[in-house]
Amino acid sequence: MTSSTLLAAVTVAADRGRPIPDAATRETVGHAPVHTVDDLERAVAAARSAQPAWAALGHDARARTLNAIADDIEENAEELAVLLSREQGKPLDGPNARFEVGAAAAWTRSAANTPLDPQVVLDDGSARSELHYVPLGTVGAIGPWNWPVMIAVWQIAPSLRMGNTVVVKPSEYTPLSVLALAEIYQRHLPQGTLTALSGGGEVGAAIAEHPGFDKIMFTGSTETGRRIVAGSAGNLARLTLELGGNDAGIVLPGTDVKSVAEQLFWGVFINTGQTCASLKRLYVHESLYEEVVATLAEAAKTTPLGPGLEPGNVLGPLQNQKQFDIVARLVEDARTRGARIAAGGGPAEELGPLFYRPTVVADISEGAPLVDEEQFGPVIPVIRYSSVADAIRRANAVEQGLGASVWSADVEEALGVAERLQAGTVWINQHGTLNPEVPFGGVKASGYGLEFGAEGLKAVAAPKVVTR
Ligand code: NDP
Repeated sequence: MTSSTLLAAVTVAADRGRPIPDAATRETVGHAPVHTVDDLERAVAAARSAQPAWAALGHDARARTLNAIADDIEENAEELAVLLSREQGKPLDGPNARFEVGAAAAWTRSAANTPLDPQVVLDDGSARSELHYVPLGTVGAIGPWNWPVMIAVWQIAPSLRMGNTVVVKPSEYTPLSVLALAEIYQRHLPQGTLTALSGGGEVGAAIAEHPGFDKIMFTGSTETGRRIVAGSAGNLARLTLELGGNDAGIVLPGTDVKSVAEQLFWGVFINTGQTCASLKRLYVHESLYEEVVATLAEAAKTTPLGPGLEPGNVLGPLQNQKQFDIVARLVEDARTRGARIAAGGGPAEELGPLFYRPTVVADISEGAPLVDEEQFGPVIPVIRYSSVADAIRRANAVEQGLGASVWSADVEEALGVAERLQAGTVWINQHGTLNPEVPFGGVKASGYGLEFGAEGLKAVAAPKVVTR
């Protein structure tokens, strides 16, 4: 299937749909259907009716289906990557659109093949108790616009593997790539097992409140996460909430800056900074401060930025105007406060309306919104510190707790600091790297519940104890 036929399968006539712009050029990519709460009712009814037969197939048959889906994603990878690149803005090259589609296949395969046997929790000669994981029923999945395809897979694949059926609602900014992903999935699934609805926030709110869902998987902002908790109070749906982060990194004295420079750069700028678990505040010891600022600034000035379909570009535009405005406001505020702009600091208008130069801001500290708020864009505030204990305290002094990182030539020392950081994941000499076998989730206002690996499968299943 070519890009245009995959797109043709999910797009509707202009008079019946919502135009979705190319993030780089602002040309219309296609028209997304406008699904409503009535469509949600039909999708939930279909999902609930399909669920018992899907559950009855058993793990092996579902795993075979998911592996076939992963093959199909790989066969359509380039077409899907082109659509994703246009709609979301991320370039084809670098850790971007092709990388995301590759991850979609890898996470689908991992959900298929990760073993989850019943656990024997007691066997003392007189009694034997086993913990089994059985299907929950129907899962509602609500996704964001930053990694729309990969995150949809994180929600859909484990849910299907565990015998649930799924209704997924992508962000209204990036519906087409998720509809295209769902179209590939649906070729292998019984009718009703997976439905994708491209509605707005009101459809998301209706999912949270709907008594037909047994579980809600949500990735997005903390504010919307709180609404979902409130909305789901009536039906007691279980929740996995992957909310925003304001991840800190701490560069310890003695770090070999050159050897970590590339990891540091991509820890900040992956997906042009629009990543929940990317580096958003960098604390650097005073002995290395100027070296780190200069190293990051040099990389920010020289890393290719431009339209995603042009080969060689590895940084793209902001996905939408709202996010562009947030980034521009935070940088302008920092400038007004007297912070030093070591690289970037403004739009790259010659490339298109949503391009912003990769920006490194020095001589800044807490109290500036660029440090205290999640920027979710290609900007990093670099903050000076003199005592490690103080850096740890400041790193922990935000409401979020998604990821954190420690950078050091001494891994033992880094591990000691890692223990004291409040985050769901702490990386050493890297930031934001994920693996489908390794659990991922946040603490504090970054949400709760684990995704990936066996823990991720348990999160979309009902624990059931059998004692004999
Ligand atoms: P939102 O949290 O508003 O959107 C995420 C998803 O929730 C979208 O599908 C959205 O639908 C849906 N939604 C909106 N309102 C409701 C509701 N009341 N109930 C249920 N679902 C709802 O994120 P934004 O796109 O507005 O981004 C805002 C901020 O969130 C960013 O600036 C960034 O800081 C953070 N963010 C974090 C992400 C992460 O990966 N953790 C990803 C994206 C954003 P629709 O888009 O159709 O309104």
